[in-house]
Amino acid sequence: MQEQDMKQPEMETKNSLVPIEKGELLAKHEIVSHSVAKNLVRDAIEAMKYSYAPYSHHHVGAALLTKDKKVYLGCNVENASYSPTNCAERTAFFKAISEGQREFSAIAIVGGKEGILKDFCSPCGVCRQVMREFVDPKSFLVILARSEEDYLIFFLEELLPLSFGPDSLG
Ligand SMILES: [Zn+2]
Repeated sequence: MQEQDMKQPEMETKNSLVPIEKGELLAKHEIVSHSVAKNLVRDAIEAMKYSYAPYSHHHVGAALLTKDKKVYLGCNVENASYSPTNCAERTAFFKAISEGQREFSAIAIVGGKEGILKDFCSPCGVCRQVMREFVDPKSFLVILARSEEDYLIFFLEELLPLSFGPDSLG
């Protein structure tokens, strides 16, 4: 009985994503369960360990969940000449895109000075726009976390209202 209980969270992780039709509005908790969000946050914290941020010391990790339930990790990668720096969110997206993924459900993001998760780490404008290229902003979820238990969930549309995307070009 106990053993069954222990296996429950993983089962839920595998099955709790509700398939989303384009443009369909659902409550956030219908799209991502607590256990899925928690696992994704844990993955983002793991990804942050590889952050290369010798200049800002602001370490960021991201975990991107595809609709077929694969997770792609990303960290920020800084550069001595600054502008080639890449954010964790875009690292995760570009890794996934470069491996043929095109359908995404959610991204979890964590970060902070010296990797200490004091505040919610919000994606920059460039990363929001990159997400917009590949997701439906009405259903894609952005999870900002300070720990596995302490997180906020937004639709991308809430973070990037009136956005310009591929459909804007007609
Ligand atoms: Zn960014």
